[in-house]
Amino acid sequence: MIWDTHAHLDDKQFNSDRDKVIQRAREVGVKTMVNIAHSEPSSGEAVNIATKYPFIYATVGIHPHNAQSCTEKTWEHLIRLAQNPKVVAWGEIGLDYYRDLSPRDIQRKVFIRQLELANDMGLPVVIHDRDAHGDILQIVKKHPPQEGGVFHSYSGSWEMARELLAMGFYLSFSGPLTYKNARHAVEVVTNIPEDRFVVETDCPYLTPEPYRGKRNEPAYVREVVKKIAELKGIPFEKAAQFSSENAQKLFRLK
Ligand SMILES: [Zn+2]
Repeated sequence: MIWDTHAHLDDKQFNSDRDKVIQRAREVGVKTMVNIAHSEPSSGEAVNIATKYPFIYATVGIHPHNAQSCTEKTWEHLIRLAQNPKVVAWGEIGLDYYRDLSPRDIQRKVFIRQLELANDMGLPVVIHDRDAHGDILQIVKKHPPQEGGVFHSYSGSWEMARELLAMGFYLSFSGPLTYKNARHAVEVVTNIPEDRFVVETDCPYLTPEPYRGKRNEPAYVREVVKKIAELKGIPFEKAAQFSSENAQKLFRLK
């Protein structure tokens, strides 16, 4: 049994065949998926999808790209949605200094606000960090998530990973781990303890090899598990088992 801990099944790229995509995943052993929100509308969609399928969970939260669209009304809406029992985390939240679609000071403010909201709601957090390692580390140290959380599609160094692991975070790996230029992620996966990693697709983005160039979907998370098994020198089944046990602990679903 495998968990896809980070899927955007509400994305419009799945509008024509969402049911089939979900069924394909289930058929190859990807039994549980977490639909990650990135905006106010997508938080509502994530909860709708999780309500429809017993094996899909949801998050609510605002991606740093959408930080400048937030108002007090956004938080009221998200707090209401987060009370749904299928909501297992607050995210994805964080900083994105690669695309800079919202001004950086607003990104930081909105990130801190959501770390506080997650603590108020008793939820772990799903963190997006793109080219913002220094500021993210500083902020999570100052505003530690009380229920822990995960760095999704982790792209930092092993040195930073060690600090995050010491703070109790899980690290999640995705398609880029299977790419030829994946030096950092390979080093981190090789070194990370077996009880601290999870896997994800981030679908429809970040498609793993050998499907690169196609739309990504939860069934392909097997390629990430395969790569972790290879790097750690353990059987596929073991890597799958560790990642799903870790996901259950991360999202508190024992
Ligand atoms: Zn994502």
